[in-house]
Amino acid sequence: MNKFEPVIGLEIHIHLSTESKIFCSCSTKFGNSPNSLTCPICLGLPGVLPVLNKKAFHYAIKSSLALNCQVSESITFDRKNYYYPDLPKNYQISQYGTPVGRNGFLKIKNRSSNPVKINRVHMEEDAGKLIHDQNGKISFVDLNRTGIPLIEIVTEPDIYSPDEAYDFLQELKITILYLEIADCNMEEGSLRCDANISLRKAGDKKLGTKIELKNMNTFKGIRQALEYEIQRQTILLEEGEKVTHQTRLWDPLKQKTTSMRSKEDIHDYRYFPDPDLLTYEISNKMRNKFKDELPELPMAKRERFKKDYFLSEYDADLLVRDKFIASYFEETLKFHINPKAVCNFLTSDMVGVAHEKKIKLSNIKLTPKNCGKILNLVKEGLISIKTAKELLFDLLNYDIDPEKYIEEKNLKQMNETSEIKNVIETACKENSQAVTDYKNGKNSALKFLVGQVMRLTKGTANPAMVNKLLNEKLNKEEGK
Ligand SMILES: [Zn+2]
Repeated sequence: MNKFEPVIGLEIHIHLSTESKIFCSCSTKFGNSPNSLTCPICLGLPGVLPVLNKKAFHYAIKSSLALNCQVSESITFDRKNYYYPDLPKNYQISQYGTPVGRNGFLKIKNRSSNPVKINRVHMEEDAGKLIHDQNGKISFVDLNRTGIPLIEIVTEPDIYSPDEAYDFLQELKITILYLEIADCNMEEGSLRCDANISLRKAGDKKLGTKIELKNMNTFKGIRQALEYEIQRQTILLEEGEKVTHQTRLWDPLKQKTTSMRSKEDIHDYRYFPDPDLLTYEISNKMRNKFKDELPELPMAKRERFKKDYFLSEYDADLLVRDKFIASYFEETLKFHINPKAVCNFLTSDMVGVAHEKKIKLSNIKLTPKNCGKILNLVKEGLISIKTAKELLFDLLNYDIDPEKYIEEKNLKQMNETSEIKNVIETACKENSQAVTDYKNGKNSALKFLVGQVMRLTKGTANPAMVNKLLNEKLNKEEGK
């Protein structure tokens, strides 16, 4: 057993996908020219009045409910005061005393009976973005991001390994995606995560000194940064040294963390109620309405898929990972009876082809009905699974009946013995050297000949029959 136990807490910021910012009507579009999406409100000019974006407010309530939080009856906003060049107001509008949600939890893989506790879900505005030139001499500021609505999700220090942190983030991301309130795109900064980690002697109740980690841009990076910190702090503690309370930055190239600053205490922010914003009520009726509107969430769906369709944990997870695929799966089952076959076809073939053809899953035009038909054609032996996959390349972008399509394109599987025998004759004549090679004991020549038959039939010959008939022919002739 390890001498020290890590205790981890996470803080996740997620951009809500509203069209306008949290307190003004500027667009939240990503990638516009710097400072083009700003107005006096998000620039923080004096005398302006912020007005809360209703959609952002509703999204924050939905996320709190999905994370099993107690939703506050009313919420207020507070000013979090600090100075930074990307924050022209010198304060950020956030929530301190009355967050939207409190005391929630999220079940994660391998810990479903002991979910990760969530401290709070609150709303706030994002700050701008500093861009530093390569020499580090000049910095630019882009305030397009200023005022984009965020929810911040703060877990309790209730995560006990880098793997658990990774699993939590995966589950959280999928859950938020299911709510369709954010795109969680880490590359565009729509999901950002800070972590804090402390080590304590195994068995101790008291927490050790906390280190805050920043600058991790991928879930993998977060796991690596935590692993590095565990090692670093373990060495310090084993040598009898103290861990200093500080913020450290993860450097993905050097694969290490470096000290950024000693951490401010919470009172340094001088939170106080924002006098420009009202108190917003969340009535029981409103809460219940949103609760009723919640979709079936990933953890529940995974369990149901395992139970109802006899799928393994692995298969259920692959399907549920994407809301579109999960519902496509159930729709396809109305037209093809075998869940495992549908699961395999979707999660490996369809997802693979969509990826290759750069088609967004939700833009797939092939209907579940026609997808079911393709699988029925395979089941009836009319096409091979290989042809089925090739059909995906042609049909993913269209709503075409696959039965008609294979008729028109002559893709029906060749299952007639006599027909296949004829092609085998031709292939053997054209490749007499391979036939001789096989008879001289070169087994790979058989594979070559099978390939030639498949080529001559444009892949439509039933491969099992080709193998069997070719074997019979060559071995029979040998026996002569
Ligand atoms: Zn604005």
